[in-house]
Amino acid sequence: MNSSTQQPKILIVEDEEALAEVLDDYLRHHHFVTRVVGDGALVQDAVAAFQPDLILLDLMLPNKDGLTICREIRARSTVPIIMTTARVEEIDRLLGLELGADDYICKPYSPREVIARVKAVLRRAGVQDASPANKALVLRAESMSATLLGVALELTAVEFRLLETMANEPRRIFTRDQLMDRIYTDQRIVSDRTIDSHITKLRKKLATANAGADVIRSVYGVGYKYEEPEQN
Ligand code: CA
Repeated sequence: MNSSTQQPKILIVEDEEALAEVLDDYLRHHHFVTRVVGDGALVQDAVAAFQPDLILLDLMLPNKDGLTICREIRARSTVPIIMTTARVEEIDRLLGLELGADDYICKPYSPREVIARVKAVLRRAGVQDASPANKALVLRAESMSATLLGVALELTAVEFRLLETMANEPRRIFTRDQLMDRIYTDQRIVSDRTIDSHITKLRKKLATANAGADVIRSVYGVGYKYEEPEQN
């Protein structure tokens, strides 16, 4: 990317047309610029022409498989690659092959999950998602560590995911249900009060780092939202 104000470009390599379309719509809706390729033999040309900031790469493709494509791209580029596969047991094997992919997602996946992974990988790669370059909050998904205004936050895994969810979409109001949905993937039954208690602890930690001011606001009767703190 040339500038931090540009929208990141995502190349979607997926031969299932319906799935490619859903991903395409979802990514565009989240302000990414996209291109879809469904034929393995056409990926290299698309990479050269489109110059993506990230590639979502399906494993099983007509004419050339994702493994070969991943190796070829890695031979000359560090562009972030997220591999998608229909079989969860495949992921272990892929990891063992040390292809140099940045992340792996198993199908069936929700588009929302894909967006979260795309954002996390872009962040790690240092690509800003159309937001100011100097963010007050820095989240590192791989170590689940976070700093606010340079102060390290000691967060639990749940607190980290809550903060990441809200900070990824600043000023959006999340209901408790939406937050529960995002942080508990195993569909456990969790009460509203559990979320409130995690939020309360998270807010205390954030306020300590931010001179007592709240960055997570409660919206009465609705839920919570994240607001980027003022920076001097
Ligand atoms: Ca496929």
